[in-house]
Amino acid sequence: MDKCSFCGRDKKDTNLLIAGISGHICDHCIEQAYNIIQEETKGKSSFDVSQIQLLKPREIKKFLDQYVIGQEEAKKYLSVAVYNHYKRLIQPRNDDDGIEIEKSNIILVGETGTGKTLLARTIARMLHVPFTIVDATVLTEAGYVGEDIESLLTRLLQVADYDVKAAEKGIIFIDEIDKIARKSDNPSITRDVSGEGVQQGLLKLLEGSIVNVPPQGGRKHPEQKMIPVNTQNILFICGGAFDGIEKKIANRMNTQVVGYGAGKNRDYINKDNLLEYIAPQDLKSYGMIPEIIGRLPILTHLDPLDKPTLRDILTEPKNSIIKQYIKLFRIDNIELSFDNKVLEYIVDRSIEFKLGARGLRSICEVIMMDAMFNLPSDNVSKLRITTNYARQKLEKINIKLLKAS
Ligand code: ADP
Repeated sequence: MDKCSFCGRDKKDTNLLIAGISGHICDHCIEQAYNIIQEETKGKSSFDVSQIQLLKPREIKKFLDQYVIGQEEAKKYLSVAVYNHYKRLIQPRNDDDGIEIEKSNIILVGETGTGKTLLARTIARMLHVPFTIVDATVLTEAGYVGEDIESLLTRLLQVADYDVKAAEKGIIFIDEIDKIARKSDNPSITRDVSGEGVQQGLLKLLEGSIVNVPPQGGRKHPEQKMIPVNTQNILFICGGAFDGIEKKIANRMNTQVVGYGAGKNRDYINKDNLLEYIAPQDLKSYGMIPEIIGRLPILTHLDPLDKPTLRDILTEPKNSIIKQYIKLFRIDNIELSFDNKVLEYIVDRSIEFKLGARGLRSICEVIMMDAMFNLPSDNVSKLRITTNYARQKLEKINIKLLKAS
């Protein structure tokens, strides 16, 4: 009769007995051994920066190009920032030249739906450091309803499996950073709790300090033991739409171009995309405190999506919407195709309803819903989506519903 070589249990007394070269181990002993390993390695970091394979900025951008259409400047800036972030991490601590490379946090400004979060998510795909996306709108000062600033770090700790060393080298994407702008540029006007206080709190994290982080987040677990996290090497990428900032840019540029050399400069201004000219002063006029702006030294913009870009977004990215539908149907052995004209039709509707890139998916969902519902049960091997077909499906639904999605 076979026995566990560790505890001596007979095979019949175990759920599972695994044979080795010259012995056996039962499920009880495996479980116990696993627990011992867990206990022993607790608190030890498995994060090793020397394992990081450093992609060069051009390679990083090439990777981004597969998923994000256009946005050349933002992709370039982001690639450089991420590359430098890695270099800082890899560089040996005690270089004797006394030069310390400072981290360069980034701020991306662009209309909603132009790809800020997509850029961040795509970067996350290729990274080998913990990465999390958080929304600035949920942040409040301690004591108010909402989450404390420290919750940003809780999220990072969670994705790092509480490996503090790894989290301390991670990246945090803060979305909707413009929502914590002060409502007025003038700091002497009544303090507004929503904006400035949160910015001050955030500043502490951006500057690099040791912050006590509640591992479960929130105030629901007052008994939890805080974990100190050093934010000095955490890279922050912020994104925001900054609705209406074009006016601030225009104001600044108007005052600048009046006077010496005015005529010369004015000709070159692309009035359709003032965001191209965004400068730190504009963020200040919008209500970001100068200290925060100083800690986000890389400022870049995303372009509004024009018709050809929207058209490309439908088909060109590695996991484009259209490619996804084709794959979905292929699994049911249905060959799905789209007429070129229908793709244009989808883009036109999205522009007409002012839905941007997000609208492309919701419009496609409406067009494809009946087919996705019926075809798997019908005996059909091909489906061609024509403009007529799309129009029929789209006319049936209430456009207001699309807008809400
Ligand atoms: P933002 O964060 O700027 O509000 P998102 O990144 O969430 O916008 O974009 C919404 C969706 O639109 C994305 O999931 C993606 O499908 C699509 N999209 C937006 N911009 C692009 C782009 N430049 N390239 C490819 N897809 C895009």
